[in-house]
Order: sequence, then structure tokens, then C-alpha cells
Amino acid sequence: MLLLEELQAIDCAIDDKKSEQAGYQAGIAELEEGLAVVRSALADEQARQAEFERDKAELEAALLAEQDNIKRSETNMKEIRTNKEFQAVGREIAAARKQVAELEEQILQKTAQLEELQAAIGTRSSELSDLEERADSGRKEQQAVINSLQAAVDAAVSSREAIIKELSSPVVRRYNQLRGQRHGRALAEARDGSCTGCNMQLPPQLYNTLFKRDELHFCPHCQRILILKQEQG
Ligand SMILES: [Zn+2]
Repeated sequence: MLLLEELQAIDCAIDDKKSEQAGYQAGIAELEEGLAVVRSALADEQARQAEFERDKAELEAALLAEQDNIKRSETNMKEIRTNKEFQAVGREIAAARKQVAELEEQILQKTAQLEELQAAIGTRSSELSDLEERADSGRKEQQAVINSLQAAVDAAVSSREAIIKELSSPVVRRYNQLRGQRHGRALAEARDGSCTGCNMQLPPQLYNTLFKRDELHFCPHCQRILILKQEQG
């Protein structure tokens, strides 16, 4: 019985350490998630920057074309003989100048947008490198705790194996089966005539036989292996 109690204590400790490890693993995953969010925001901004730069280049090409048109029209004007033609070219030049003014305005706007975006990218990049640094040290710290927990788990597993060797295999099988069914707790203390695993009253006959400590007894309600603490005996 003492061996079984020891086994349960070890198993509970292993369960606790494993869930603690899972907590740290989740912490690491959370760090990675945070990084991924900032990385993808940065990638979006960089894609928009490239798009703005393309737009700006297109506007600048259109501006050059309009300016060329104006120059050509101005050259043509020198050879014009009729007033009618002169007026027509004049209208063309006026329209082209209007177009140039609009394009210049659009280029200014695009440049301003681009500058704003570049400032945002700068902020985002430094945010990312700060976060990467913090994530890196956080990851290392959490991994170190995970590793030390793992060392404790490994040690507990070898003590567990030593205990199991001393127990009969039907007892171990029953214990493992109950552990699976009863949230990791195969043993329950019997106290004041009740099972503390399920809080049900035990038949008095059964409760009395527990004092003999001769063989395994099971709670008729939750089927856990019943144990009596020393001070009661
Ligand atoms: Zn019970």
C-alpha cells in the first residue's frame, strides 16, 4: 500500500510538471504568435510601399509625357500660319498645362503618403527588432525551465519504474486503468467511514477490513483503491 501511495505521489508530481511544461510551451507559442503578427503587418506595409512607388513612377512618367507634349506644341506654334490653327494649339497647350498641374499635385500627395508609410515602416521595424530580442530571451528562459522540468520528470519516471518493479503486475494494471479513468488519481483515502475520492459512505464491514491492511480494497462507488492513513491505524 505504501508503494502505491508513493507511486501516486510520483505520478501526480509528473502530471503537475508536465502541465507546467505545457504552460511554458504555450508561453513560447504566444511569443511566436506576437512576432508573426508584427512581421505580417510589416510585410503588408512594405507591399503598400512598393505599390505607392509604382504609382508614383507612373505619375512621373505621365508628367514627363505631358511636358513633352507642351514643348512639341510650342515648337509647332512657330510654324502656324492661320489664327484658327493658332487657337487650336493654344487650347491643347492649356489643357496639357492643366494636366501637368494635376499630375504634380498627385505626385506631391503620393510623396506625402509614401513618407508617412516609410515612417510607419521605420517604427514597425524597430518594434519588430525589440520584440525579436525580447522573444529570444523569453524563449531561452522558458526553454531552460522546460528543460529543468524535463529533468525532474525523467528522474520521477525512473523512480516510478523502480516502484512498479516491486508491485505485482495485476496491481499495476489496475492502478494504471483507474488512473486513466479517475483523472490521474487511482487511490483514495478512506476516512471516518467514507471514501474521500467520491465522498460516499463505505459499507462498515469494508471499512473495518481496511484496518487489516492485508490486501487491496476498492471503493464500491468510484472503484478507487482505498488507503488508510497511518495515524488512523
Ligand atoms: Zn469512492
